[in-house]
Amino acid sequence: MNEATLDIALMPGDGIGPEVMEAALLVLEAAQHRVGGFRLAFAPLEAGAEAYRRSGVAVSEAVFARAASADAILFGAMGLPDVRLPDGREIAPQLDLRERLGLFAGIRPARLLPGVASPLADPRARDIDLVIVREQTEGLFAERGRGLVTAERAEDRLVVTRAASERLFDAAFALARERKARRGHARVDLVDKANVLGSMAFFRAIFLEQAARWPEIEAGCRHVDATALDLVRRPWDLDVLVTENLMGDILSDLAAALVGGMGFAPTADLGRGKGLFQPAHGSAPDIAGKGVANPTAMILSGAMMLDWLGTTRGLEVCRRAARLVEAAVEHAYASGRIRPIELGGTSGTRAIGKAVAAAVSELDPASLR
Ligand code: ATP
Repeated sequence: MNEATLDIALMPGDGIGPEVMEAALLVLEAAQHRVGGFRLAFAPLEAGAEAYRRSGVAVSEAVFARAASADAILFGAMGLPDVRLPDGREIAPQLDLRERLGLFAGIRPARLLPGVASPLADPRARDIDLVIVREQTEGLFAERGRGLVTAERAEDRLVVTRAASERLFDAAFALARERKARRGHARVDLVDKANVLGSMAFFRAIFLEQAARWPEIEAGCRHVDATALDLVRRPWDLDVLVTENLMGDILSDLAAALVGGMGFAPTADLGRGKGLFQPAHGSAPDIAGKGVANPTAMILSGAMMLDWLGTTRGLEVCRRAARLVEAAVEHAYASGRIRPIELGGTSGTRAIGKAVAAAVSELDPASLR
């Protein structure tokens, strides 16, 4: 059988980025070995705040071009509090990459793993399994760093366009269709502030138009404030939540907290034919270099990458590898082999990577749905 080779740009970045990346690579290599039929060719690239400190450029044009031409980008974390642009802002190449690669949809799942305690005491917290789909090219981030600031007044405009909204909603409904195929049910809720802002009423009108084109998926609209309340009160009832850029930014950290913290929140940043996969957390300089960061979010981001590669390239073997990595994470947590330091346990970054890689080697990929 011909083996598909996939070119993966690796951007470990700063702080805990390289540490969690190393652990995730152990798992991805084990999955590739176990399933077979595809090869991940990793191309490490230097970028981020440390790169900026050394060279004055966070992402060089050569690095950008290399990453843009890869089949997918696997990204650790970038930015350090003491490395700043001349105007005082932190280096945030991930936002530039999103813009330049047109990564318009941030897919942010929050699912409670077996053996991990949610801060919610309610036993139904076991059933938390939701996804936030965040618009990432406009909204309140549209004028990032370019808004008006005078001595008396500051303004950042909230921009919503029909084109960006339609492609976002399409991505949310397509995701819901996949979830329905796997879980038997799925619904999409728009999260907005349509009762106050004209831009959000416009966003909602486009959502309702799009929803009519997906009659097999249940759809609804909710306000962002009530959604924050429900994320704490009954998150097990929520499924796919699609929303504006800043609202998605805030709600996805809240959702991560519900399932154990930033170490458990993976992300896929998707555009047309382009995908960047990274943990939702930042470079966490407070714990960098200590080997204590939880790499689970990075490992699950790797699984999302395999799944996306499988779907977009028509490679069933990659989808199977994605299922295997997800099952291995579940298995390693359920068996009590992993107790992250983040949650008061003793498993460090490398130990977690090794435990999941071992589970990958033990499980039978053919037995997974
Ligand atoms: P950014 O603004 O880039 O998101 P930040 O510094 O605000 O960065 P994070 O880097 O995500 O936020 O870190 C927030 C907190 O969560 C920190 O206290 C950090 O130690 C903790 N944290 C983040 N990622 C992990 C991880 N993988 N494992 C354990 N703790 C983590």
